[in-house]
Amino acid sequence: MIYKRSSALFAEAKSYIPGGVNSPVRAFKAVGGDPIFVNEAKGAYLYDEDGNRLIDYIASWGPLILGHAYEPVINAVIEKAKKGTSFGMPTEIETELAKLAVSMVPNIDKIRFVNSGTEACMSAVRLARGFSGKDKIIKFAGCYHGHSDSFLIQAGSGAVTFGSPNSPGVTQGTAKDTLLANYNDLDSVEAIVKANKEEIAAIIIEPVAGNMGCIVPKDGFMQGLRKICDQENILLVFDEVMTGFRLGKGGAQEALNINADILCFGKVIGGGLPVGAFAARNEIMDYLAPEGPVYQAGTLSGNPLAMSAGLAMLTELNAHPEIFKSLADKTEYLHKGLDEVLRSKGIPYQINRFGSMISVHFTEEPVVDFQTSAKGNNETFKKYFHGMLQNGIYLPPSAFESYFLNDALTYHDLDETVNAVNSVFNE
Ligand SMILES: *Cc1c(COP(=O)(O)O)cnc(C)c1O
Repeated sequence: MIYKRSSALFAEAKSYIPGGVNSPVRAFKAVGGDPIFVNEAKGAYLYDEDGNRLIDYIASWGPLILGHAYEPVINAVIEKAKKGTSFGMPTEIETELAKLAVSMVPNIDKIRFVNSGTEACMSAVRLARGFSGKDKIIKFAGCYHGHSDSFLIQAGSGAVTFGSPNSPGVTQGTAKDTLLANYNDLDSVEAIVKANKEEIAAIIIEPVAGNMGCIVPKDGFMQGLRKICDQENILLVFDEVMTGFRLGKGGAQEALNINADILCFGKVIGGGLPVGAFAARNEIMDYLAPEGPVYQAGTLSGNPLAMSAGLAMLTELNAHPEIFKSLADKTEYLHKGLDEVLRSKGIPYQINRFGSMISVHFTEEPVVDFQTSAKGNNETFKKYFHGMLQNGIYLPPSAFESYFLNDALTYHDLDETVNAVNSVFNE
């Protein structure tokens, strides 16, 4: 494969856009080399600026669960665009999408649309704080909830106490209100709760983590969180930006059989256009402006093009829930194939999977939290990533990202992928 034009485009982009990209992971910093510039995509395939065809395991980081340029979504957007792209006034389609989302997701009465997952999580936390009258939140190391200040926090020196900023520009003042716990470790949560009695507004979590690779909650972990929240009057916020409308109609709440208090959405709910959302029962959502005192707004929120893409996407998923099974089956098939090949090579590895989320970690230890995920061998990952790319397979360019399968992938594509792994590790 040649990447001449991609490399030239990247060089030019770097002159005008910081690092040449509008979101850091796209720059391939973790794996080295120049990123691929995409020209177009259809179904499971990307076509880059050098004319290469790649089998895509990112699907725009999740939204394109039915594959690229899915016709009902594209047609809905085209038809809508002809009638105007934005009004800043209420439109019927916002209610249509809200009604459908509320009917699919358990345990919510109302939903508010925003423009990204970041906005959804940021607003959900403000709502939780406003509703509860408390300031602090607990988040888990390695979980990603977008780039707003309160989430860009790393473990401070006191570990289980206060977080500290993990980006310049995030103030100490903000960091002190975010407390860091370890995924799959209820004791770490209990210790924080005990040390901060009556101060914690919310616990926010990726119910199945996807931003430190895929990490599955251990039996009892989510039940334990629910119980702590009930006992201590803390709101449980499920960040379902990745899991929502991917693990099933009802997302992780349904898949894990746990009710959260506030839900955050993004990715699939926008069908590939910029949409996020947060939702809860009436009691909580009525705290939001203009009904209640917690302010939240957006010039382009509920944008008709974005709503039409989301509506077309959720309509498909709602009418054909077998899609979720089909995706999970394909992911399981890939899991088996990868497992067989990697085992035969004698390289230490772990494969984590839940539904259509899957990740490969080159480490001997089971990957259950950020610490164990971070132990993965990045040199092996780089070889794997670039080897796969040479074989026409586009994997996430970081060991901390899970793959996003889309239902346009065929079993033949999956076989091709497993064969590519075999040849990469033969070399
Ligand atoms: C992608 C993601 C976000 C952020 O969404 P953006 O649309 O990128 O702002 C938040 N939470 C989770 C779990 C995500 O996967």
